Amino acid sequence: MATNNNLLTSLPPCGTVWERFFDVCAIPHGSGNVETISKWIIDFATKNGLEAKQDSAKNVLVTKAADSGCENKPTILLQCHMDMVCESNDASFDFATRGIECEIAELNGKKILTAKGTTLGADDGIGIAAGLALLTDKDLKSGKLELLCTVDEETTMAGAEGIDAGFFTAKYLVNIDSEDEGVVTLGSAGGFDVSASTKVALVETTDTALELSLSGCVGGHSGVEIHQPRANAVVALFDVLKTLLMIPGVRLASFAGGKATNAIPRSAKAVITAPTASHPAIREACDRALAGLKANHPMDVDMALTMTLADATVKTTSLDDSARIIGGTLAMPCGVIRMDGAIEGLVQTSCNVGNVSLTEEGDFKCEMFARSSVNDSMDLVHNMVKATGLIYGLDVSEQEGRFSGWKPNPDTKIAHVTIDAVKKVLGYEPKEEAIHAGLECGLLMDKYHDLEAVSIGATICQPHCPDEYMEIDTVAPFYEILKVICTEME
Ligand SMILES: [Zn+2]
Repeated sequence: MATNNNLLTSLPPCGTVWERFFDVCAIPHGSGNVETISKWIIDFATKNGLEAKQDSAKNVLVTKAADSGCENKPTILLQCHMDMVCESNDASFDFATRGIECEIAELNGKKILTAKGTTLGADDGIGIAAGLALLTDKDLKSGKLELLCTVDEETTMAGAEGIDAGFFTAKYLVNIDSEDEGVVTLGSAGGFDVSASTKVALVETTDTALELSLSGCVGGHSGVEIHQPRANAVVALFDVLKTLLMIPGVRLASFAGGKATNAIPRSAKAVITAPTASHPAIREACDRALAGLKANHPMDVDMALTMTLADATVKTTSLDDSARIIGGTLAMPCGVIRMDGAIEGLVQTSCNVGNVSLTEEGDFKCEMFARSSVNDSMDLVHNMVKATGLIYGLDVSEQEGRFSGWKPNPDTKIAHVTIDAVKKVLGYEPKEEAIHAGLECGLLMDKYHDLEAVSIGATICQPHCPDEYMEIDTVAPFYEILKVICTEME
């Protein structure tokens, strides 16, 4: 984009990284729309004398042969993803046809690169840019380099999941999709979706219908914030319903809560039926329950629970089915199940009750997302859900869309070389980290068992939001670190 290129003179020199980054910005490349950028990467590689190919999942691999004298160095795989999250403050912005317009700004004394009202796509456009700059860097003398650009990391991880066996040859992987300068990521969690469901018969009732609405919870990412004392609005409302079920005549008629399995639910609604005589007891129980929930969840200061009259007559569930659905959801594993033994503060295994619904047709479904860096622990969570389903008469699904965890290992060759490279460039000891969210490294290791991996990146803040920005002065050191890794790897 011509206007982006006007910024080049105001940016610190960094090989051809900025030029390639603006090339990427000019091409629409939201998740599910990566054909044009794939073609552009292949064309760019071919024009620069590099080899490029695509596999059956549409991932692109660009290869640079070893420089003379470096033929005996091990091959390194650099890996990024081609798609970006498309979020805009202006609903009419068409990510399918428009490129990203960048601007330079200052924030807290730091020079930042941001986009005009949209996501910047530095996640992971800077990975593509740094990778292509590196493979075409005439000053770099390295062994064979491979650059893997995957499709649709932000949505399905279908690229990393469906990668062809034998598509690349390297044993050392440098994932360039991290977002913090000075941090070397050495592990991530795997995960899967699982649901428990049942169909219940509804019966006519002359009792009054009441709508209970729990709202105002902070929610959060089920990988990043699951260990914090945040309320899960779905579980919290079922907790209230469990208490209400002790009041004569109370039945559950319908339920809806949560937005996505990997998000901690912020709100939930239930319709219950009850004889009018029970209403005062219900109201009192709700007030008491809310006070208890608030005391237990200090982060959720805006949590509110309201009770209003709903339709005069509805269908409702039997006492048995009400108890089975409420009890079954409450008994599902939710929250942290186990911490990592070796890395302080790292969650090893968790499960999030995400979407739960009981429709007016009597279809009940509880959808969850489980995560673990240890594959056996994922099976354990599945067994917990299956056992709970068995007790409460719920049908439990298989592990859907499962991807593997990447068990942290700080004692690999690539970890040592990367940590030394960061130290050399930044002048301080990097922070070694593992995350409870998912990275593509785990999926790649599923197929390429000998792979040793690290993940690094320039500093990107607020990714996936229109406020996304990249700290400009972290880009050149990031590129330098990649060069040192490629040079020093023996
Ligand atoms: Zn990313």
